[in-house]
Amino acid sequence: MNPDELTGQARTHIADVPLPRCALHVHAVAPFLALRRAALADGFDPIPHSSFRDFSRQLGIWNAKFRGDRPMLDASGRLIEVHALTPSQRIDAILLWSALPGASRHHWGTDIDVIDARATAPDYPVKLTPEEFAPGGPYAGLAQWLEVNAARFGFFRPFRGILSGVQPEPWHFSFAPLAEKARRELAPAVLYRAIEAAPLLGKETVLSRLDELHARYVASIDWP
Ligand SMILES: [Zn+2]
Repeated sequence: MNPDELTGQARTHIADVPLPRCALHVHAVAPFLALRRAALADGFDPIPHSSFRDFSRQLGIWNAKFRGDRPMLDASGRLIEVHALTPSQRIDAILLWSALPGASRHHWGTDIDVIDARATAPDYPVKLTPEEFAPGGPYAGLAQWLEVNAARFGFFRPFRGILSGVQPEPWHFSFAPLAEKARRELAPAVLYRAIEAAPLLGKETVLSRLDELHARYVASIDWP
């Protein structure tokens, strides 16, 4: 992937998949469809709730949270009063749940947030909370199936809340062969150039902390 692809500013590496509707890296489509076929045979229907996401979409999420236009939660799910925080504290609060624009693994098309379409009604409002994927939740069965089977198709969970600075995301799966390459290619300098050119709120503070943020949220991931 080139720098624009790595930072979500191009979609030349992305294919639009009609069924299930999603957008994935051209070389992640077949592996995901193979995983899905195996899951369907076992009674689950994994579909991406979100797949490729571009830089400008991530920028919109970031700026809305930074301004306080979108609710922000702390690690235990309590509402944070954004306006009481310094820029640096706002950045830390956002990064608990959302990626820095340019640094989202969803930019690569290798990562998906997956739910089980068979487990809930079509109008069920998906929340992507740990409870939905824990025993008793609608997606517990799929989560368990993926825990056992995802690796056979090259997929793994990068956010388990161990090494990664991101909160545990039991719904987030990544196609390792492509994503590992992208993770190594997305050097701090590549990220720096993407952010420097963008209308990102808190930009000066982000750039002054970039090596630390890169180490914690890009370089560090969890392995099975
Ligand atoms: Zn995700």
